[in-house]
Amino acid sequence: MAGELRATNIGERVRLAGWVNRRRDLGGRIFIDLRDRSGLVQVSCGSDTLSEQDVEKARRFGLEVVVAVEGEVAGRPADALNPDMPTGEVEVRAEAIEMLAPSETPPIMVAYGADDELPSEELRLRYRFLDLRRPELQRNFQVRHCVNQAIRSSLDKLGFIEVETPMLTRPSPEGARDYLTPSRVSRGEFYALPQSPQLYKQILMVAGFDRYFQIARCLRDEDLRADRQPEFTQLDVEMAFVDEEDIFAVGEAVMAEVWSSCSGRDVERPFPQMNYRDVMEQYGTDKPDLRIPWRLADASDVVRDSEFRIFSGTLESGGRVRGFRVPAGAQLSRKALDQLDGVAQDAGAPGALWTKLADGGAQGGFGKQIKTQEVEGLKSLLGASDGDLLVLVAGADRIANPALDALRRHLASVMDAVEEGDRFLWVVEFPLFEAHPESGEPVPSHHPFTSAVPEDVDNLDSDPLSVRSRAYDLVYNGSEFGSGSIRINKPDVQRHVFAALGIGREEAEKKFGWLLEAFRYGAPPHGGFALGLDRVVMHLAGGDSLRDVIAFPKTTAARALMEGAPAPMAPEDLEELGIKLVGRADD
Ligand code: ASP
Repeated sequence: MAGELRATNIGERVRLAGWVNRRRDLGGRIFIDLRDRSGLVQVSCGSDTLSEQDVEKARRFGLEVVVAVEGEVAGRPADALNPDMPTGEVEVRAEAIEMLAPSETPPIMVAYGADDELPSEELRLRYRFLDLRRPELQRNFQVRHCVNQAIRSSLDKLGFIEVETPMLTRPSPEGARDYLTPSRVSRGEFYALPQSPQLYKQILMVAGFDRYFQIARCLRDEDLRADRQPEFTQLDVEMAFVDEEDIFAVGEAVMAEVWSSCSGRDVERPFPQMNYRDVMEQYGTDKPDLRIPWRLADASDVVRDSEFRIFSGTLESGGRVRGFRVPAGAQLSRKALDQLDGVAQDAGAPGALWTKLADGGAQGGFGKQIKTQEVEGLKSLLGASDGDLLVLVAGADRIANPALDALRRHLASVMDAVEEGDRFLWVVEFPLFEAHPESGEPVPSHHPFTSAVPEDVDNLDSDPLSVRSRAYDLVYNGSEFGSGSIRINKPDVQRHVFAALGIGREEAEKKFGWLLEAFRYGAPPHGGFALGLDRVVMHLAGGDSLRDVIAFPKTTAARALMEGAPAPMAPEDLEELGIKLVGRADD
């Protein structure tokens, strides 16, 4: 193939087919960069090997025309070698050339130089068939293919079987809005598209399948953020007769095979585990980037009696003062330090507090406001010394945590302190419930089929928000790859959890009756997880947009720009479904 030709192929005859990536017309000789899936090679078209007519033909080839070429691989003269091109030592001297398909002038380019700016993403999504020809995107889909193969091969070796579950279903319990599909045959009734295969995979355990997996498409109608897609793919796994450690071993084996096959890197196993409480305390987030070595500490006791009102006032009102040390951070410019307030404010806190350590004391920022004894206390708490920067946030944890996390990540990037590596982490013992932001009522942190930690079950009624769950997340370099849990497998326990969530018997029957019924007939203990495959591929491919690893992604307004979806339907089509529109988005 074009991109694979090297000096060792000199003298061979080849027949290549692909697209015209670039054409240079040097009068007597036309050079074409021919592109196929494997890359580019230069094709030389001159009258020494081609008829005048064919040279003229080549002269008229526009970009993205599909051509076939036959000829001999030849070495390039010394002054024409191109070290930037893998095939830069050779060219193909065309002896026959043929156009297989014409191309209109492409609305966006495929070939870009290092300094060229890409056209807008909107335009690229509109002409996705051209955008996907770019080598960067072609490479991403090689990685994606590799990940799928590695997943299948590792799970197959571990005795898992792949089972597909329906797309047309009843609402599933992941807490987002459902995409609905009307039924023509049963007018007035709707299918929901699956938010995940959660209930089916649990029923597969009741059905005796023991070790299931699926590379499953999930659909969630949410207000989209940049790193979400309404339609995404997850690796969905469920196992019977297991506890957390069995499940972690499987997740780790899969990740190890994916990493070694698709990036050539070995990952260290077992992955470390931290419980939710500790991870929030030490990093301010449940998805810490362990490549940043800095941890948070609670400075409340050190500054409890401070004359600095921000400290003492926060502590009096039940908040805390926490922070971290930035090694060698005292060298940061005033401008860099002035930015810290903004970083904390973007994360929802009133601001950031900092001071530089120098000459045995604290200089600048809050350093002026506190006593030597407090400076000494902070230094010993944070293991800090001259040259370091101390960064603190005062407030209730709910407000301070996001700010501390943002500051930690921001400063690590400014200080170039993010270490190299693949740092996986299991975060365990998430709370079973969290308080609904408006009503304060308990809602599931994961989903309502998650087991409680046995020691905490007695608090389900009296103090539901204190109950820890057997749910876990897999975190990689600061990004949440996925989550899972040991499930409830006893109908009475499930009913108890529903009751704590304010879901009565009738509502539970209506929503999840099909799972509860299955549980009445011998449900083995079981658990599993789901990992966001798009995100895994994105990290392996080294990109920062999910849209670059999904062949036909949607925009943040959940629109497909190439095919034009969603689209209005003719009134007669709607009538057949028993649907009458009461309005449209643009009314
Ligand atoms: N169904 C869950 C999800 O999609 C994963 C799991 O609990 O296995 O996030």
